Amino acid sequence: MATYEYDCPRCGRFETHQVIGTAPASHACPDCHRSTRRVFSAPHLTSVPAPLRAALDRAERSRSEPDVVTEVPS
Ligand SMILES: [Zn+2]
Repeated sequence: MATYEYDCPRCGRFETHQVIGTAPASHACPDCHRSTRRVFSAPHLTSVPAPLRAALDRAERSRSEPDVVTEVPS
């Protein structure tokens, strides 16, 4: 399980706990039930070295926003 943050424009930020890699881009606010947007953060990875944290963040984002490859890597 991992903690994911969402930002409700009316009620503010809230957290959900879901299986790693399954967090949707939007989630219903538990208070007003409006659709909210996910906030990308790594709140429990502060002791991880910066290069590894950047790689983990990039891998997480690539699930919904994959990098575009225009040529075969050498
Ligand atoms: Zn709300």
